[in-house]
Amino acid sequence: MGLFGPKKTCSICGGKVGFFGYDLSGNDHLCGNCRDKCTPGQLDFASMSVDDIRKNMEVAEANKAKADDFQATKEFYAGSHFDKPILFVDEENGWFMNAAKGDGWVYNLDDITYYNMRINTSRNEEEQKEKGFLEWLFEPDFYSDFPELPKVPDGEKLTGAYLTIRLAENELGVDEVEIDVFPGFFTDENDVRSSYLCCHDFYTFMQDYRAGQRSGGRGTAASRKDESKEDPVELLKKLHGLVEAGILTQEEFEAKKKQILEI
Ligand SMILES: [Zn+2]
Repeated sequence: MGLFGPKKTCSICGGKVGFFGYDLSGNDHLCGNCRDKCTPGQLDFASMSVDDIRKNMEVAEANKAKADDFQATKEFYAGSHFDKPILFVDEENGWFMNAAKGDGWVYNLDDITYYNMRINTSRNEEEQKEKGFLEWLFEPDFYSDFPELPKVPDGEKLTGAYLTIRLAENELGVDEVEIDVFPGFFTDENDVRSSYLCCHDFYTFMQDYRAGQRSGGRGTAASRKDESKEDPVELLKKLHGLVEAGILTQEEFEAKKKQILEI
């Protein structure tokens, strides 16, 4: 017997249960390695049996298999300054992945309830709590317009920006996917703008995606794609509006234009 009671053995793999282990129901235990093979959401281990854990691991494994089938048809970037995508979408299957985190979990677009943008003005969580979080809620069925470009309060410096996607109950038990959209090395104004544009891109995409779902139901992927495809002229007009609002630069607009018109 050691100082903190008897040594525990993992009821799944038979390995040692160290500091990062969990007690299951009955006299069973789970090691940290085996926990990593479970779904990522909060789990109430104390009420779970070995059987429950095995079932949960099957769900997690099936999700990892989805990742192998994942075909990104759309990538989102935190402004033009980030060279790595922060969000992948597979429109055919209706899935998305947190590319910024790169954890490989696959979520359903249909499970999304709302999304918001949050900015931090402190790197210290406690201090941020005192200051209060700055949040913009984007619930397309509730707010008709996307909020205007957020302003960082005078004297404050932006230290982080997140696109937070809220999910309805799902098999992974995850209620929130937080995506870091902060490029982090430009001036405040550019950082806010880049982060905002990224959230705006996702907002626009979801509007189209939901419109396609509504009019075409769960039709074939091909029909959904056609319905959600926006008229390029209309899209350019919208983007030009963003230039006038000071959100997009002329350069960024030109780049988008080339992309849209495929010239
Ligand atoms: Zn184990």
